Amino acid sequence: MPEVPREYSSSHMLAEKNKKMLELIEDVTKNADEVQKKVLSEILSRNANVEYLRRHGLRGQTDPHTFKKLLPVITYEDIQPDINRIANGDKSPILTSKPVTEFLTSSGTSGGERKLMPTIDEELGRRCFLYSLLMPIMSQFVADLEKGKGMYLMFTKCESKTPGGIVARPVLTSYYKSPYFRDRPYDPYTNYTSPNETVLCPDSYQSMYSQLLCGLYQYKEVLRVGAIFASGFIRAIRFLEKHWTLLCNDIRTGTVNPLITDTSVREAVMRILRPDPRLADLIHRECSKGCWQGIITRLWPNTKYVDVIVTGTMAQYIPTLDYYSNGLPLVCTMYASSECYFGVNLNPLCKPSQVSYTLIPTMCYYEFLPVNRTNDLNASKPSPTSLNQSQHHELVELVDVKLGQEYELVVTTHAGLYRYRVGDILRVSGFKNKAPQFSFVCRKNVALSIDSDKTDEVELQNAMKNAVTHLVPFDAHVSEYTSYADTTTIPGHYVLYWELCLKGSTPIPPCVYEDCCLTIEESLNSVYRQGRVSDKSIGPLEIKIVEQGTFDKLMDYAISLGASINQYKAPRCVKFAPIVELLNSRVTANYFSPKCPKWVPGHKQWIHQN
Ligand code: AMP
Repeated sequence: MPEVPREYSSSHMLAEKNKKMLELIEDVTKNADEVQKKVLSEILSRNANVEYLRRHGLRGQTDPHTFKKLLPVITYEDIQPDINRIANGDKSPILTSKPVTEFLTSSGTSGGERKLMPTIDEELGRRCFLYSLLMPIMSQFVADLEKGKGMYLMFTKCESKTPGGIVARPVLTSYYKSPYFRDRPYDPYTNYTSPNETVLCPDSYQSMYSQLLCGLYQYKEVLRVGAIFASGFIRAIRFLEKHWTLLCNDIRTGTVNPLITDTSVREAVMRILRPDPRLADLIHRECSKGCWQGIITRLWPNTKYVDVIVTGTMAQYIPTLDYYSNGLPLVCTMYASSECYFGVNLNPLCKPSQVSYTLIPTMCYYEFLPVNRTNDLNASKPSPTSLNQSQHHELVELVDVKLGQEYELVVTTHAGLYRYRVGDILRVSGFKNKAPQFSFVCRKNVALSIDSDKTDEVELQNAMKNAVTHLVPFDAHVSEYTSYADTTTIPGHYVLYWELCLKGSTPIPPCVYEDCCLTIEESLNSVYRQGRVSDKSIGPLEIKIVEQGTFDKLMDYAISLGASINQYKAPRCVKFAPIVELLNSRVTANYFSPKCPKWVPGHKQWIHQN
């Protein structure tokens, strides 16, 4: 028998593997109801003896009916005392029978600090399973992806330890540092231009620089580019705009500039890099044109799509990405959180506005709380944190959701969350077999967001209260304010529009407004401050002073659009372009935060204990 060529056999094997993964999706979605029952029963039987379930009266029962009758639907604050006990070193089985191996630090905050999501060892395998579905799905729509590489910008963030010695870090940092990522066997679908060392480098400048250097050098092989969120990818392009001459020089000479001091990064890059003056000329030509439109296709001409999340608040970056990529498909592959990974997009080449995620029934046990948003266009109003008896009865299971209806996602995870409200609002947009598909509507109570920061109106109000004390000596106060997440700058930044009531005669010097900016930043949550200080993903906060009467004009405008005059309240956050234009047309002065607010890794309560 003639031997099958190696290339054929490996592509055949890959096709077989892909087919298996797609069959698996078929299977779990066809049997979504049974799979969900099994997941719940597994979670409850394995954790039958944990303190939390016993406290609520569950004595080993694993059926959905008893579970729902006894267990309350909760938010983070309800289990915070339990989480704190675990963080402080209590090793008894409080939430799970398996030990909590780390805390995943969510970008959602509580009391200004990141929420701590408990996780157990095996969860990592479940998360990797979801990742392993993505390329088989993608390869149905885009051919030959296995023939090249992905230029994905991946970053690890700093980690800290709880007083009880448990590591607390973001979910992606946990994944990149795990053997699943570091020691992954060769797979054409996880073949990235970035060597592991560049991803694991804790210094964000060196990590970004070295990843872009390797990505540029291997430009011919790059078939797809991406980052997790759109904001991160745009930041990389901006970095390239600023640093391309240095990068070009390194490619010309085949060396790494001395700013890259991390020896493991230098060595990893030097294993790839050789002098390539022709490539350096090409990059120089493209980057010195002064126009960055289509820069992605100009520098990485074989790129077939941009893999970034542009649903939810990230939708604000779509025009910028279209500009840089000359309209390449923007692909949102998955929907996930620190609590649990949830779903995948089975139609990844669809338009961003059409994206829907199929929740994978094996990941956790899902429930859905119907929401009826009336005129609450951005859902930024605080919603009730605890449910009344009748709301408890309204929750429905995965296979019972209704097309077109909006729901808040509630999950029970293998890692110790029971009937936990994730805080996301989803709308049913279709079904894959019995499993529903959801479009992401919004995160509850988020007024402002640039990167992974999420600031709600209450936080903003408190920050304002602290800031306006600087105006007191001038007998001035803020009569109206609103805010806007300005993403026309890179990085984006928060803007506050202030209309002032000035009674004093002494003019207010600029430094006072700058102090106000900084006080607001100091008062915002730790994710915001980390974005400003460590990730540099958020620019300095800006206060724009508007003319007297601007907020009256705003009201006139809202009423002309049909708002009720009796119920009108100035919005605390604006998104609608004509309103932003109206505000901007009446700005008399603007001020920026003069420096970064304070931020240290870990929770503020741990600083003195560690
Ligand atoms: P974190 O807890 O920091 O991991 O953030 C998870 C949150 O990010 C989710 O609860 C969503 O609000 C948001 N998120 C994650 N994936 C997506 C997505 N594909 N589209 C929109 N928002 C997302």
